[in-house]
Amino acid sequence: MSPTDLNRHRQALLTKKAGVERLARTRAFSRTRSHGDDGDRSMAATDDQIVIQLQQNDAKLLRAIDKALDRIVSGEYGICSECEEEIPQIRLDAVPWTRVCVPCKEGL
Ligand SMILES: [Zn+2]
Repeated sequence: MSPTDLNRHRQALLTKKAGVERLARTRAFSRTRSHGDDGDRSMAATDDQIVIQLQQNDAKLLRAIDKALDRIVSGEYGICSECEEEIPQIRLDAVPWTRVCVPCKEGL
């Protein structure tokens, strides 16, 4: 992969990471607030469930982004971890933290 492409994906990963972290902080705040609410308790519980689910998704995505950044450092970025072929740029542009190509992801 060219240094230009690599740099573009690195920037995309860092931007995405910052966005997810910002969102995660907002969610942590809204969760704290819902606990202090005297409103419908079952409703608050449901909201909590959703927020916890979202926080787990955030954590998973952040881990994937960190691993992708590690792979950039180690020079493994953009190589499918299943078939070891290069992952097409268009897929990396869409999902820069991916570690598998589309055929491998879909089990083809
Ligand atoms: Zn593959």
